Amino acid sequence: MISIRNIRKSFGSNLVLDDISLDVSQGEVVCVIGASGSGKSTLLRCVNGLETYDAGDITVDGQRVDHVGRQMVAIREKVAMVFQRFNLFPHRTALENVMEGPIYVKRESRESAMRNARALLAQVGLAGKEDAYPASLSGGQQQRVAIARALAMQPRAILFDEPTSALDPELVGEVLSVMRALANQGMTMMVVTHEMGFAREVADRVIFIDRGHIVEQGPARAVLAAPQHERTQDFLRRVT
Ligand code: ADP
Ligand code: MG
Repeated sequence: MISIRNIRKSFGSNLVLDDISLDVSQGEVVCVIGASGSGKSTLLRCVNGLETYDAGDITVDGQRVDHVGRQMVAIREKVAMVFQRFNLFPHRTALENVMEGPIYVKRESRESAMRNARALLAQVGLAGKEDAYPASLSGGQQQRVAIARALAMQPRAILFDEPTSALDPELVGEVLSVMRALANQGMTMMVVTHEMGFAREVADRVIFIDRGHIVEQGPARAVLAAPQHERTQDFLRRVT
């Protein structure tokens, strides 16, 4: 579903991604871990075209992410992204936030967009919150609206960039359980997270990135329980 080949990316003289290659199959859940500043967000942003890359190739569902205008619209429809900060429209209700993309990007009718949006809010446990504005929702509820909004575009894959890092600890679980349900339904997911419990339980594969390199990857259990590389061991000692 996602193919990343020899990606290189610099910001000025700062080489942030150095020859990253990675494939994510349909239905696979890949967790990306690594210290702050190691390039995790940049990698996700390259995959859905929010960031350009300097060398290499990325394709999603057979389509090249190459920053030619019309194709980028198609890529963004295929790959949704959920951010640490929920980025909801503050002056729109939960329901309107979820309807917006289907109406303005996919040109769906208002009726059909509304029907789907209601079903998606119910799916993320927010039935009854359709008319609530973001400010009146908890962080966990806002993030679940953001996930419903991503799903509304019927993406082939969803990229999560530290989706629970901005949440109070007691709200983390409700967001992770929505993500776990999505994984169980077969959604293709790349998840940058510091939630090692989630990675251990849900990820098919864990990728450890250090200073723009993939240092280690493998089945979640292997990488997290018996990391081979010293840098992975150091990192895991610090976060767990
Ligand atoms: P992570 O998500 O793993 O914390 P990032 O991908 O955000 O890491 O950042 C990797 C490196 O790239 C950092 O050194 C960061 O300062 C730099 N960086 C990220 N985005 C930009 C940008 N838009 N302009 C300049 N430098 C950036
Ligand atoms: Mg980041």
